[in-house]
Amino acid sequence: MGLRILLNGKLVDEKDAKISVFDHGLLYGDGVFEGIRAYNGRVFRLKEHIQRLYDSANAIMLKIPVSQEKMISEILRTLRANSLKDAYIRVVVTRGVGDLGLDPVKCPKPTYFIIADKIILYPKEFYEKGLKIATVSVRRNIPEAINPRIKSLNYLNNILAKIEGRQRGVVEALMLNRDGYVAECTGDNIFIVKNEVIITPPFSAGVLEGITQNAVIEIAKKFGFKVKRELFTRYCVFTADECFLTGTAAEIIPVVEVDGRQIGDGKPGKITKKLINEFRKLTKRGGTPIYKKLAS
Ligand code: PMP
Repeated sequence: MGLRILLNGKLVDEKDAKISVFDHGLLYGDGVFEGIRAYNGRVFRLKEHIQRLYDSANAIMLKIPVSQEKMISEILRTLRANSLKDAYIRVVVTRGVGDLGLDPVKCPKPTYFIIADKIILYPKEFYEKGLKIATVSVRRNIPEAINPRIKSLNYLNNILAKIEGRQRGVVEALMLNRDGYVAECTGDNIFIVKNEVIITPPFSAGVLEGITQNAVIEIAKKFGFKVKRELFTRYCVFTADECFLTGTAAEIIPVVEVDGRQIGDGKPGKITKKLINEFRKLTKRGGTPIYKKLAS
């Protein structure tokens, strides 16, 4: 038996988890999604992820057919149905089935599904040695077209950047915004550290508001570091003391080379390592319990 998938409120076997070829999520990338992690029986920042999902849906005028509370219980139900404690959870809501035209008015019933699976972790080496990344020519979507704060199913902007990054032999690509300022990577937010100040681009740069990014900002502030959300250029990245990426799947990954330029001493930075340590502790502490015996 395969995974149990929650599709429109029903748990079904993965071989039966099918949606129509007329679903606008497929035909037009019309929908929103979330990627969430569970660590040791607890879902990390579940409320924040759900809030972002509903905010994204609201921004594209998509009414999710269940309440936030119900969505949370559906996620926990899916995790339990698959007996998972450590997992990667994908929540998808699409505009639903319509005709071949793009008008969402023809889609009366949104589709939603939840996949909870084992996590595939990045190789340990990435965390120990740090990543080499490259800036690509594909610019991040301009907020006036598709705001990158909307986590929509339309990821072609990031996919094109990913393809270009692969062609250059790197696993993650750095994207600039239309003005040439650093925005984010294809699936991760970026931070630099200069003279012990931690800097990440502001929302106005055209980036997704990362749940991991926010967690890192909180941790950094708690440990007395100065944190700024501020525009910066590639030059600032090249000359930074440290650089790292954050994302639900990647957590915190050090970056040691950008466009052939070594960052700092070419090894994961001191502050980066401290944040990684503290982040790992945080993922083990709080979080929404999946199973009752963890509830206290
Ligand atoms: N930027 C983009 C474009 C992403 O797809 C992601 C992953 N969801 C992130 C940043 C990181 O966000 P989070 O920490 O919420 O996973």
